[in-house]
Amino acid sequence: MNKEKIVKNLNKILNNKNIIYDNLELDKYNKDWRGFFNFKCICAIFPETKEEIEKIVLFCNKNDIKIIPQGGNTSLTGSSVPTKDNYEIILNLKKLNKIIKLDKQNELIEVESGVTLDSVKEYADKNNFYFPISLTSSGSCQIGGNIATNAGGINALKYGSMIENVRGLSVILADGSNIECMSPMKKNNTGYNIKNLFIGSEGTLGIIYKCLLKIYPKPKDYFHCMIAFNSIPNNINFFIMIRNFFVEQIESAEIIPKIAIDLTIKHGYLKKSFFNNQYESFLLLKFSLYEEKENFEKLFIEKLVTLTHKYEDLIIPKSINQENNLWKFRDDLVESYKLEGKYITNDISLPLDKMSEFIEKTSKEIKKIDSNIRIYPFGHLGDGNIHFNMIIPKNLNNDFDFLRDRIYKIVNDSVFSFGGSFSAEHGIGIIKKNSFEKYKDKNEIAIMKKIKISLDPKNIMNPGKIFNL
Ligand SMILES: Cc1cc2nc3c(=O)[nH]c(=O)nc-3n(C[C@H](O)[C@H](O)[C@H](O)COP(=O)(O)OP(=O)(O)OC[C@H]3O[C@@H](n4cnc5c(N)ncnc54)[C@H](O)[C@@H]3O)c2cc1C
Repeated sequence: MNKEKIVKNLNKILNNKNIIYDNLELDKYNKDWRGFFNFKCICAIFPETKEEIEKIVLFCNKNDIKIIPQGGNTSLTGSSVPTKDNYEIILNLKKLNKIIKLDKQNELIEVESGVTLDSVKEYADKNNFYFPISLTSSGSCQIGGNIATNAGGINALKYGSMIENVRGLSVILADGSNIECMSPMKKNNTGYNIKNLFIGSEGTLGIIYKCLLKIYPKPKDYFHCMIAFNSIPNNINFFIMIRNFFVEQIESAEIIPKIAIDLTIKHGYLKKSFFNNQYESFLLLKFSLYEEKENFEKLFIEKLVTLTHKYEDLIIPKSINQENNLWKFRDDLVESYKLEGKYITNDISLPLDKMSEFIEKTSKEIKKIDSNIRIYPFGHLGDGNIHFNMIIPKNLNNDFDFLRDRIYKIVNDSVFSFGGSFSAEHGIGIIKKNSFEKYKDKNEIAIMKKIKISLDPKNIMNPGKIFNL
């Protein structure tokens, strides 16, 4: 079917609204967040009801039209954008943005998939509850996208990733039918867990229409601190000790390198370092408290006294403003390295006891290419998930794509040898397909392909993402 006919038919289903096909208007839906991909879709549609989605999918299935489910388009792997020109339609969920119900007794919230993460968090907060998933993209990303990518973020240490927080799902399958896995029960051992198949499926198995999410009583307060170390191993060892003391309360534990302080100052995000002296590595901690903050602080200091020689310096913010400044710095450190020129990112996870050795060994390997490559490892230390990034000197920019592939190989081979994962929280999308084929267990890939073929035999749902059929 040609483009005009496709648009005409979709217009009919959507009552002549909520469709765009002008290339300028489509630009922000076609382009991924990092600007790596910019193929043109046939059109983008914005359905307002479940019934519209069902009709659209049925129409696409009959006519072999490919669909990209899209949320806030903040994917860092190219999973939410077209793979070639005039091949797919984008089905963006932003108009399905209702918060359906907050169930206080059962600590659940039911929402449509196009609700932004921030809206869910704010709504829960207003009702004295807490929805813990926290990403820097939370103003734009949608719950459907968070589920489809099994998003992690800074609080996964205490509350898990999305998969630990989704109780129910309603999904429209590739044949236009709908499955309702909306049981509110935590304990529900009734055969295969079909709901979990869709969490992390990156839009390749169906369109998430709505969900039931777990919410938590709002913590009474938070305690924050930043601790300085002379080396990364000291930082990691300290974290393991402090985690053993406060396993119930630690919500976030972010590792930050010295270069992050230098670059946030250089690019005007930070006036001066939080510390008077220079240190190599930092740990930013957040504890959620259901007890009085003063009591917790006392206990924390008592424990720290037993670890006096294990760290160099400590900051405990004394106002909400100071607390916010620490976390603003954490958010800004990404923007600051981007301003340094070309960079390479790696979203990996490693067993904690292997992390220091991995960083040391892999950094040395990368420095062999050029000693001016700056290594910038930061992120969610608590769950062994670091963004092992690097800033590339200008003299290496000409052969950037070649260099990036070479570095990916060094990093991923090393991650594999230490028993880690080449993709901790961002998924596979387009960018990590080669690594997926190389490092993922072959039998698991074979089962995934069988599942995909049985649910979507015509391969209309987000084709070319995660793997090729
Ligand atoms: C500044 C920044 C910080 C980030 N920090 C983190 C972080 O800390 N942790 C983390 O895990 N990620 C992070 N991300 C990545 C990204 O925000 C997450 O992957 C997020 O979950 C994607 O949500 P989205 O709504 O933008 O989805 P999109 O980017 O639109 O889509 C992502 C995938 O989900 C599918 N999809 C979207 N909606 C649906 C639906 N309703 N049904 C079926 N499939 C659907 C798409 O087809 C695609 O495969 C960050 C991104 C940015 C830009």
